[in-house]
Amino acid sequence: DCHRNESQRELEMGTKPHFVVIPWLATSHMIPIVDIACLLAAHGAAVTVITTPANAQLVQSRVDRAGDQGASRITVTTIPFPAAEAGLPEGCERVDHVPSPDMVPSFFDAAMQFGDAVAQHCRRLTGPRRPSCLIAGISHTWAHVLARELGAPCFIFHGFCAFSLLCCEYLHAHRPHEAVSSPDELFDVPTLPPFECRLTRRQLPLQFLPSCPVEYRMREFREFELAADGIVVNSFEELERDSAARLAAATGKKVFAVGPVSLCCSPPLDDPRAASDDDAKRCMAWLDAKKARSVLYVSFGSAGRMAPAQLMQLGVALVSCPWPVLWVIKGAGSLPGDVKEWLRENTDADGVADSQCLALRGWAPQVAILSHRAVGGFVTHCGWGSTLESVAAGVPMAAWPFTAEQFVNEKLIVDVLGIGVSIGVTKPTGGMLTAGGGGEETAEVGTEQVKRALNSLMDGGVEGEERAKKVNELKAKAYAALEKEGSSYMNLEKLILSAV
Ligand code: UDP
Repeated sequence: DCHRNESQRELEMGTKPHFVVIPWLATSHMIPIVDIACLLAAHGAAVTVITTPANAQLVQSRVDRAGDQGASRITVTTIPFPAAEAGLPEGCERVDHVPSPDMVPSFFDAAMQFGDAVAQHCRRLTGPRRPSCLIAGISHTWAHVLARELGAPCFIFHGFCAFSLLCCEYLHAHRPHEAVSSPDELFDVPTLPPFECRLTRRQLPLQFLPSCPVEYRMREFREFELAADGIVVNSFEELERDSAARLAAATGKKVFAVGPVSLCCSPPLDDPRAASDDDAKRCMAWLDAKKARSVLYVSFGSAGRMAPAQLMQLGVALVSCPWPVLWVIKGAGSLPGDVKEWLRENTDADGVADSQCLALRGWAPQVAILSHRAVGGFVTHCGWGSTLESVAAGVPMAAWPFTAEQFVNEKLIVDVLGIGVSIGVTKPTGGMLTAGGGGEETAEVGTEQVKRALNSLMDGGVEGEERAKKVNELKAKAYAALEKEGSSYMNLEKLILSAV
């Protein structure tokens, strides 16, 4: 049987393009790019996802969600990752698992060696298994050289939205950040006129920061971007106005918006109540006991850690607001004793049904949380994955950007789309690659400022209703984009055609 399945797979591969998908080694990156692999398979393409042994389970679990049809066309291949050789802890195979920011450069070195091994593997794939197209995460900068050697096109996946990629193109071309005299001086980045987009140097994506710890790698990123044959984005054309078309014009490359990929798998499989994870079950049961649209969901992505002083200011606002709060805290173990104590006294960690503030320490089932009827607002760091998941669930946001391109996403959420409010953060307050790994030691945003934003998010009167209406309209458009003949559906077909 096993043999027959294998031959069937080979047969199919002979007639359909074979995509080799190489996710960048970061949790939040792997989620959407593996979902893209699932979508490709659902559209009939053969797909091989190449990852490292420690990431195989995460990849395989998402592939399994793709249902029989899709999953049977996907092969997950693992190639060893030289963590120990690079001086990293054994099994450290994701950048968000690197124990300290000064070890990030070693992680990138190991990822380059991983690239050599992937190239060797791909050269051996012949006949129907010969790669007809590569889709690689931005940090696998070696992928375009490999693709060229294999005679296959190479598409890049950043994990950014088209709007922020367009903004980066403007920064590369016009370099307005180099003309200002201080890191806090505002300058224009006219990404999508007539919308105003004013940023400071501190708020720019990493590659534009003078203090970037992996600056030399950033130059390689740019070379990869320029060499790639196209850009795949987890977004849908109706969302970002004409950002995708403008990005195509600015780069001269094909841009394929194929999302929102969080909607690609059937909801029952995604339901954490069916999983064995107790935390997820408790969290869903807690939500079940709450009124519709009454809960504030607060989470800052897969790695976002807030400095203790800032966390306390946020925490005081959360426990004193009139709405039930579901708060995901990363890195709680390394908080100072007094903050831990405060959390223990003021929040609930066990999901007692009538508690007011449930603080989750582990991995939250975010997509299920956002689509729960009880959730009425999302305080987010504006990571693109979270932003799009919120749109797909029709949940308005309060923007608290941490780092990377999140300040740009905030402009899209608040100013362009009108589906969120700004907390008013002016500089990075957290994130893996920022100073100290956790941002400033003092809090920029005080409790009262947080409360004002939460009020406007959850009880914003006419403006609040307008935001809710807009985000629900976008939710409907998100579903429509993925349906047959929808824009994302058609872009996926185009992506497959461009690989044949
Ligand atoms: N996520 C999750 N549970 C968590 C934290 C994150 O499911 O506790 C998922 C979230 O749904 C999203 C991704 O991780 O798909 C985070 O991606 P995003 O781009 O928002 O932020 P990043 O982690 O890159 O900062």
